[in-house]
Amino acid sequence: MNPLLSRASRLIPGSIYGHTSPILSHPQTAPAFAIKAKGARYIDADGNEWLDLMCAYGTNILGYAHPTVLEAAIRQLHNSDCLNHPTPLMLDLADRLISLTQFAAWAVFAKNGTDVTTYAIQVAREHTRRPKILSISGAYHGTAPWCAPSIAGILPEERRHIHTFPWNDLNHFHTLIKKHHNQIAAIILTPFHHPNFAPAQLPSPDFFPTIQNTCRQHGIQIILDDIRAGFRLHHRGSHKIFNLTPDLACYGKALANGFPISACLGAAHLRRAAERVFFTGSTWHSAASMAAALATLDLIEKNNIPQFLHQQGLRLKNSLEQLAAQHSLSFTLTGPPAMPTPHFENDPSLLLLQTFTHLLMRQHVFLHPHHNGFLCAAHTDYEINEIIHRSQIAFASLKSTLSQTHPHTYPHPTTHD
Ligand code: PMP
Repeated sequence: MNPLLSRASRLIPGSIYGHTSPILSHPQTAPAFAIKAKGARYIDADGNEWLDLMCAYGTNILGYAHPTVLEAAIRQLHNSDCLNHPTPLMLDLADRLISLTQFAAWAVFAKNGTDVTTYAIQVAREHTRRPKILSISGAYHGTAPWCAPSIAGILPEERRHIHTFPWNDLNHFHTLIKKHHNQIAAIILTPFHHPNFAPAQLPSPDFFPTIQNTCRQHGIQIILDDIRAGFRLHHRGSHKIFNLTPDLACYGKALANGFPISACLGAAHLRRAAERVFFTGSTWHSAASMAAALATLDLIEKNNIPQFLHQQGLRLKNSLEQLAAQHSLSFTLTGPPAMPTPHFENDPSLLLLQTFTHLLMRQHVFLHPHHNGFLCAAHTDYEINEIIHRSQIAFASLKSTLSQTHPHTYPHPTTHD
């Protein structure tokens, strides 16, 4: 066993826990620890260089260790990070986000996505004085008891007022609206559906407009969870491309290009409720992340990064889908091209997908089999060409593996190293 992993299993419950666990991707092939990263590449603890399509699960949007962002953060670090008081950077960042997103009148800051999605539902409950929250089955909003994917340590009563329905299923949505009349405080939605272990789904044309009209009629607050997609699809926030006007929106991940910070933004009518909800954390006013966020947002807007990510993602998608078709494999990159989720048709056990991503990892391209990938500004044509070239090798190898195997049984990835 990898010595770092055996140390981890001795010291840390679950070894490497949560979304970065190699057990969720390829325990034998995926790196377990990383040492450093620059641009769109990183070095694992064994000294191997990886071409990265995961971007630290979305925190990297401009390229790892971006010099302008680093400079802004380091300048502040020399003046200290956590002080007795917030620095005026908090106001600059609030101003910037409010003017960018346009629907919002105020902002608060924390560290993790979970901090702000949980705060958003509290604000909606406080404003409406109603208990219930609607959400989408299989959506991820964090690790708090109301939304964690596992039930360990969570009481059923902590979820009694959370009601889910499938993405794009408006009939089910209307049934819940009727059933819980005058009881629903908010609906929480991601801009597109990105469940694990499944292809991504975009909203159908009538999904957001119907939800928006119905929620306005019933006084239900709309919370946009833009933690994962925020500032990747549109520099003003993802509601801009999907024509949705939320009452509350949550941002994190890409907001400061990897420096820890999250934000909840809200419409003017929620200000009083927002003031009443107790919200704080020992490091939440740390100033370096705010400086990094301001620098990141400037660069995203100035260089129209969402447009670049879309264009590079589209080339990657078209090329990989064409390469797969040449090998008679029905493979797609689903979801927005800037956040591609790999998918094979007729692959109910996901073994085709696992074999392909394993073979890609053998080429030192890091793409997760069960989580959407991410592009960043450092995925220049050079990197995209290299990923396409290595994917070509992976598809050819997948095809030859399949042709040597019974058509309905696919080998376990590790048997073909
Ligand atoms: N919402 C969404 C859509 C997310 O993707 C995530 C993180 N993957 C979260 C909330 C929670 O964010 P964090 O991990 O920073 O708590």
